[in-house]
Amino acid sequence: MSGGYEAIPHGPCVICGAPGTQSFFASRPFLTRTRVAADGSEEQVSEPIAPVHVCQAHFVEVFSERLPIGYCAEPSCRRWGPLGEASPCGVPYVELWPEDESS
Ligand SMILES: [Zn+2]
Ligand SMILES: [Zn+2]
Repeated sequence: MSGGYEAIPHGPCVICGAPGTQSFFASRPFLTRTRVAADGSEEQVSEPIAPVHVCQAHFVEVFSERLPIGYCAEPSCRRWGPLGEASPCGVPYVELWPEDESS
């Protein structure tokens, strides 16, 4: 039976690499960074942040932030992973918005 429903493709789980079943966007969809131009001037650039993909087993833990995840903003990565662990490019995943203005 061929249904007309097409599931949104999910990437691998950011924690265990299993096929993702859920994905969600970070609380802020853009990351603002300061980039230093060739002439030494600084400019603010906004980069889109990839959605977080998780498997069923990790969805609740990641979504509720019981399992902290970090982000690697290197252009070659731009992906989420377990906070503090090394990303594929070698740079550890870091907290994007540490100690946000208290809510
Ligand atoms: Zn998982
Ligand atoms: Zn990386």
